[in-house]
Amino acid sequence: MTTLLQWMEELEQKKTEDPSDLRFQIEWRKNEPMSRHTTFRIGGSAVLYAVCKSVDALAMLTEECRKREIPWLILGNGSNVLFSDEGFEGVVISTTGLDHVTIKEHTVTVEAGANLTAVSKLARDASLTGMEFAHGIPGSCGGAVFMNAGAYDGEMKNIVTESTYLDTADGTLHTLSAEEHCFGYRESIYRSHPDWIIVSAKLTLSPGIKDEITARMDDFMNRRVSKQPLEYPSAGSVFKRYPGRYTAQMIDEAGLKGASVGGAQVSEKHAGFIINTGGATCADVTELIRQIKEKIHEQFGIHIECELIRIP
Ligand SMILES: Cc1cc2nc3c(=O)[nH]c(=O)nc-3n(C[C@H](O)[C@H](O)[C@H](O)COP(=O)(O)OP(=O)(O)OC[C@H]3O[C@@H](n4cnc5c(N)ncnc54)[C@H](O)[C@@H]3O)c2cc1C
Repeated sequence: MTTLLQWMEELEQKKTEDPSDLRFQIEWRKNEPMSRHTTFRIGGSAVLYAVCKSVDALAMLTEECRKREIPWLILGNGSNVLFSDEGFEGVVISTTGLDHVTIKEHTVTVEAGANLTAVSKLARDASLTGMEFAHGIPGSCGGAVFMNAGAYDGEMKNIVTESTYLDTADGTLHTLSAEEHCFGYRESIYRSHPDWIIVSAKLTLSPGIKDEITARMDDFMNRRVSKQPLEYPSAGSVFKRYPGRYTAQMIDEAGLKGASVGGAQVSEKHAGFIINTGGATCADVTELIRQIKEKIHEQFGIHIECELIRIP
């Protein structure tokens, strides 16, 4: 790690006046608390936190990590992760600096760090339909492809026609067709390839009527505001749906609404959410999840699975 920090510091000192210099395209901080970069507001410090503003900079940084055998991980908007209290002895690479979006005819091309909700608004403004479901999902486009994010009968699977990733094993870029994503419920091929970083995606939408698109988006947002505890930090629904059952309803029926461990609490408003009522730790959330799973198994005889991703 020391050698990477030295390398970063040398880069900083060597910065030239040329704005196209790759070294200008990485912003970094030492010992950065990950609680600042996750919607749960939980997580210890990463030795290095780096925001890459170009794909070349991303390739350069991951190559330096590879040569030095320094662990790294990718964070989008940090809205589906539970980050360890111990932090990370490596580099957390944020995609939020890669946020370029272009719209040509019915295709929206997004860089991985573009905010999903912001992109859904751009699609609406271009009178394109198909992305209304994404309005209010607080992730990045890369995170949404990775997770096959979805809501209200829509999912990324329906609109992603292509994505491009950086294979950090050799620094090459590759493009996947829609079928090659192997999308499933909150699943994509990316979940089994931790060395691949999604850098961009093409979303294919259809022409629509702007007022109707707006009405659908407003409806979805109103449902979120009325049903979800958006006033507290969280990572959204903690558990996956169990086939044929509503997990939140089972948690409610098991009498777990309001159950808490430290600062982590099962939301009174939506039992599928765990909220951070203040000072919650990863350990608190982990223990609360354990208790919920145990109770659901006792009462309903089934094992529920987490949607939330524990990192590192
Ligand atoms: C209030 C709230 C409501 C939510 N509602 C919904 C909902 O309705 N539907 C839904 O599906 N989800 C929902 N979520 C969860 C979350 O917003 C989505 O899963 C979102 O897609 C995660 O994107 P992210 O950028 O925040 O990913 P992160 O949380 O940053 O990362 C999630 C995983 O993706 C990986 N990853 C991220 N970007 C990349 C990349 N470019 N390349 C490779 N790997 C990458 C990370 O390494 C990590 O393993 C909600 C969350 C909150 C807080």
